Amino acid sequence: TTRAVWFRRDLRLNDHTALAKAVEHTKDEDSLVLFFHMHPELNNSFTMRHDYYFQTLQDFVSRAGDMGAPVHVIEGEIEESFQAFVKELDVDMVYFNRDETGFGKKRDDHMVEYLDSIDVEVYHYMDHHLHGAEEIKKQNGGHYKVFSPYLKKWKQQQKPGIQRVNHDKLKKAAVDKRSSFKEGEKAYQSLMEKTEADFPGTGEEAAGERFSLFLDGAIYDYDEERDFPAVDGTSLMSRYLRTGAVSIRTLYHRIQDEVNFKKDTSGVETYISELAWRDFYNMIYYYYPESDDKELVEKYRGIPWNNDEDLLEKWKQGQTGFPLIDAAMRQLNETGWMHNRLRMAVASFLTKDLLMDWREGERYFAERLVDYDPASNIGGWQWAASTGTDPVPYFRVFNPVRQSERFDPHGRFIKEWVPELGNVEKKYIHDPSKMPENEQEKAGCMIGEDYPEPVVDHKKMRKRAIEVFKDKT
Ligand code: FAD
Repeated sequence: TTRAVWFRRDLRLNDHTALAKAVEHTKDEDSLVLFFHMHPELNNSFTMRHDYYFQTLQDFVSRAGDMGAPVHVIEGEIEESFQAFVKELDVDMVYFNRDETGFGKKRDDHMVEYLDSIDVEVYHYMDHHLHGAEEIKKQNGGHYKVFSPYLKKWKQQQKPGIQRVNHDKLKKAAVDKRSSFKEGEKAYQSLMEKTEADFPGTGEEAAGERFSLFLDGAIYDYDEERDFPAVDGTSLMSRYLRTGAVSIRTLYHRIQDEVNFKKDTSGVETYISELAWRDFYNMIYYYYPESDDKELVEKYRGIPWNNDEDLLEKWKQGQTGFPLIDAAMRQLNETGWMHNRLRMAVASFLTKDLLMDWREGERYFAERLVDYDPASNIGGWQWAASTGTDPVPYFRVFNPVRQSERFDPHGRFIKEWVPELGNVEKKYIHDPSKMPENEQEKAGCMIGEDYPEPVVDHKKMRKRAIEVFKDKT
C-alpha cells in the first residue's frame, strides 16, 4: 500500500495531523510519499507573501530531505498532475489537513471528489485551528456572531492534544521517487530563484526559537505591551501559523507547559484570547463565505465609497502626512508585516478618513502580508470599516494623531520608518504640519517638500463618515 501526504499550508514535520495519521496507519511493507503541488498560475501572481511562503517551503523541503523523507514536487493543472502522480507511484491513499474556508475549501472539496473518482481513498483532518468552525456552538445549535460569548464557550471546550509524528517510522517508510518528477523539480527551482526578499527566520526551527523567546518574557506583559508598535511585545507567530511552520496546538500546549502561572496570568490570558480571535474569524468566514466581497451588515452595503486612485496610492506608499499611518504602511511595504494596533489604525484611516472601500485595503494587505489569512484579514477589515460582525461602532472613528500620541508617545516607531522626520521634536512628531517654519528648518524637514501635508482634515472627514453611515442606519 502507498500512502501520500499532501502538504499545503502546514509546512512542518511535527505536530501535524495528516502526517501523524498517515505514519500511524503505515504497516511494515507499506510505503509513504510526501508531496507538494505547484500550480502554474503561481508564476504569474508572485507577491511578497508568496515570496515568504516559498522561503518557508524551501526550509521545509530541505529539512524533510535531510531527515530522509524527501518532498516530491508535482506541477501543472491540479487534476492532471494528481492523476499522473497517483499513476506513477501507484498511490492508494492521500492524506491532508483540510481548509475550512475560501479558495482552499473549494479546492479541497473538489479534490476529495476527484480523487474518489479515480479510486484513491482520501483522509482529511481539521488541523489549522484549535477549534474548527462547527465546534463552538450556542446552546440552541446556532453559531456565535459576537466574540465575548464565543470566547467564554471556547475557553470551556477541551483543546486538542499534540499530533506526534513517529519520525523513525516515517524515515523507514518514506520513498524517494523524485527522479520521476523532473518537471516539478524544475518548476520548483525556477520559483526558488524568483524569491528575493531576505526574511529573517523562516521555517519550523525559527518558529520554535521565536516562541521560546516570547514565553521567556514578553508573554507576561502582553496585555500591557501589545499595543505599542515600538516595543517587541507580541509573539510574531502569525507568519508561522499561516505557513504552518508551527502548529496552533504546539503553541497552546507550550503555554500550558512552560508558562509560570504563578508569575502573572493576565498577559497569558490575553494572549490566549487572541488565539481565539483566529478561530472566531475562521468560523465567521465559514458561515459567511460571501463576506470576502460583501459587507456582513446588510444595511451597509452600497456605501458611497470615494474612488480616488491618487489618495489610495498615497495611503499605500505611506505618504498621507499622518506620521503613524505612514510609518505603518512603510513597515508593511518593507517587511511584509504590520503591528496589530497599526492594522486597526490604517484600516480605520482608509475607510473613515479617506472614506475608501475596505476591499481596496483588504486586497492590498493580501498582496503584502506574509501572514495573510483571508478569514482574519476580512474580519479585521470589516471590523475597522464597521461593517462586520461585532465591529467598532461607526461613530467611534480613530483619530490618527491621538492614536499616535497614545501608542507611540515618543515617536520612536515613527522615526524608525519615516526617516525624514528623524530630527523633528517630540512635540510635533505626531502632527508635523503644526511645526512653525523655523522648527521645520531646524529639523531639516520642510512640510510639503520633505514630508507631505496631511492629505485630509480628520475632523471634517470624521463628520462626513459618521453622516454617511448614519444615513444607512
Ligand atoms: P500576537 O499579538 O502575538 O497574537 C498571537 C496570534 O493570535 C497571532 O499570531 C494571530 O494568529 C492571532 N491573532 C491576534 N490578533 C488577532 C486578530 N485580531 N484576528 C485574528 N487572529 C489574531 N492576522 C493574520 O494572521 N492575518 C491577516 O491577514 C490579518 N489581517 C488583519 C487585518 C486587519 C485590518 C486587522 C485589524 C488585523 C489583522 N490580523 C491578521 C490580526 C492581527 O493583526 C495579526 O494576527 C497580528 O498582528 C499578528 O502579529 P503577532 O503574531 O505578533 O500577534
